[in-house]
Amino acid sequence: MEKNLVIRALKANAKSFSLSCKKISYVPKSIARLTCILTLQLNNNCLSSLPLELKSLHQLTELHLGNNAFEELPVVLKHLNSLRKLYLFRNKITTLPSEVLDGLPNLVLLNLNHNKIRVIPPAIKSLVCLETISVTDNQLQELPAELGSLRKLTEINFTNNKLTRVPQQLCNLSKLTELYLARNNLTELPEGVLGWTSLRVLDIAGNNLSMFPVDFQQLPLEELLCEGNEFVQCELLESKQEREVLSLKEHAARIVLKEDMNKFSVVARSLPLYPELAHMLSHRGKCALCFQPFLTTWLECVQFINLKKDMGMKKNLTVPVRALLCSYSCFNKRGHSFYGLVKLHTE
Ligand SMILES: [Zn+2]
Repeated sequence: MEKNLVIRALKANAKSFSLSCKKISYVPKSIARLTCILTLQLNNNCLSSLPLELKSLHQLTELHLGNNAFEELPVVLKHLNSLRKLYLFRNKITTLPSEVLDGLPNLVLLNLNHNKIRVIPPAIKSLVCLETISVTDNQLQELPAELGSLRKLTEINFTNNKLTRVPQQLCNLSKLTELYLARNNLTELPEGVLGWTSLRVLDIAGNNLSMFPVDFQQLPLEELLCEGNEFVQCELLESKQEREVLSLKEHAARIVLKEDMNKFSVVARSLPLYPELAHMLSHRGKCALCFQPFLTTWLECVQFINLKKDMGMKKNLTVPVRALLCSYSCFNKRGHSFYGLVKLHTE
């Protein structure tokens, strides 16, 4: 019966072909003759493999394999280099072989929701055109730093996994508009979120965050979902009035960093000649109050940001945002809204 459908499609010179909901457990090899089709729908069946003959469909841009019984990415996919959209949700996939990912350089959308994937391999970096990745309801424990090199990503959805951290490199994704990380085990978001210059929607509900990272209030967010976390409350211990004793390294670093702020200074002009030093100093922070730089010593503080008043969102909710101060003398100044969290932090 499926064969008749193939012949009919051939005669009609069809651009798309569907064998959805046919209860089939194998794909007829005659499909390989449909070399002109752009879309192939094989979803809602009992498939666990695809015939290698499928590689003759070099024009295929959209492949629907959702609701089947695949346990791994079918190997033939590595030959379908024109593929732009790949749907593989509700299967039993556990791993993503690098050789298959390497063959999909034009993929724009990847949907792997409801599978059993534990690891996204570094080879994900081969998907250089990827704009949307969705791997909800899987077993992900960690994300590869390489995700941060996929600069076209606009939407990431890793809802309902077991992630404990987000790699700092994800902050490089300046086109990212929607980031869904709800129901994971995150205790913090990476520092450097100012890189998310396009982020409109962030969902981190149901994690273990105690606060948001530095400069969070400057994100252009329109929607933030954050219920079900363990945010620090307003009643904080008052920090003891102490005077910090800075190490010689920190003292020297602060002098150099301050000079470096003036791009015409000798320091700013000569630093590029010392790449190791420049790299070490690149981990600098900036006092939230006096804006002076520091390197390894600061005061951990928190400020409470109102989403409506301070960020222009609809929700009238106050959340804690991490803030770092350079010294007790800044902290003890009157009139600021930073709350001390713990004692002086030294790396
Ligand atoms: Zn300061």
